[in-house]
Amino acid sequence: MRVYNFSAGPSMLPEDVLLQVQKEMLDYDNSGMSVTEMSHRSKYFTAIVTEAEQGLRDLMNIGDDYYVLFVQGGASMQFEAVPLNLLGKNAKADYIVSGNFANKAYEEAKKYGDIRCVASSKESKYTYIPKPAKSDFTKDAAYLHITSNNTIYGTRYVKFPETDLPIVADMSSEILSRVVDVNKFSVIYAGAQKNIAPAGVTIVIAKKSLVDVDYTLPYCPTMLKWSTQAEKGSMYNTPPCFSIYVAMLVFRYLKKLGGVPAMEEINEYKAKLLYDCLDESKFFRSSVAVEDRSIMNVTFVTPSAELDAQFVAEAAKNGLVTLKGHKSVGGIRASIYNAMPVEGIKKLVGFMQKFESENK
Ligand SMILES: *Cc1c(COP(=O)(O)O)cnc(C)c1O
Repeated sequence: MRVYNFSAGPSMLPEDVLLQVQKEMLDYDNSGMSVTEMSHRSKYFTAIVTEAEQGLRDLMNIGDDYYVLFVQGGASMQFEAVPLNLLGKNAKADYIVSGNFANKAYEEAKKYGDIRCVASSKESKYTYIPKPAKSDFTKDAAYLHITSNNTIYGTRYVKFPETDLPIVADMSSEILSRVVDVNKFSVIYAGAQKNIAPAGVTIVIAKKSLVDVDYTLPYCPTMLKWSTQAEKGSMYNTPPCFSIYVAMLVFRYLKKLGGVPAMEEINEYKAKLLYDCLDESKFFRSSVAVEDRSIMNVTFVTPSAELDAQFVAEAAKNGLVTLKGHKSVGGIRASIYNAMPVEGIKKLVGFMQKFESENK
């Protein structure tokens, strides 16, 4: 029996896509083999990569002035790749530390240059998005790094910072969940395992002008150079073929549903159901600043850690699984990415109301 899986990542995939994968598992497109068995240089796989790239370009309205790269190593590898690719001319960068992953990105970058934390919400346990003014940024920094959605804490930038600096954004836990003007960013990166595909592939969308001028640090590993992947069409070495294939199917599926605007509308609706339930409750509490609430990761607590654990355990018995908060913060977290159906949210809300009435 399928469950409603609220895992923060790897997370749910659309059932239609999984069924398609199952159908094609032994024989992809009359090749007589599975995508997991074929050469990445085959005509079948070349067509897959081409469609995947075009699919993402269509969904996010990515212009010809950007590269779309499929790389490996997760978002965490991009914590290194970002400074290694961008600090070669001017080794200064600004970071906004809005959560655990943002802090990791900041800590990694510090190895490579003069890196400044412009604003942080660490002292308040990352319950809000810091909002520095335009004048707070370093005038000649090579870039500003932000984490657009904070997966562990459940906050997001509703509005992105006002700055003339090139913005680099980690969008791992919200890519394709809402309409974003790509032109406002110089680089966007995201691991696939939250909103796109199985773990393995990482998306990098990078302004061609920034990659082509080659601001890489001299010791940047070839594998981490965006220009290497750009020149080779993401095929410098063997790519994560299966993950790219599923990404292609997810892009196809999202287009059929009406693209990112349609997803955004559904996601807003799903998040509202959950936040309305929290706001009406005297039992459940969310400690996130209301104006910064994420529509992908919804965090909350009951009156005690014991009841949190009981909630998570009883929910699982009702087919609502992986609701435990991240180990660093505890509590409860419902990750409600694109693939989580509205029915899953409704079932969770019903369960929350029942749990409250039985335990208050
Ligand atoms: C999950 C996540 C990461 C880490 O991703 P990996 O692919 O495991 O390296 C980084 N940033 C954000 C915002 C995330 O949600």
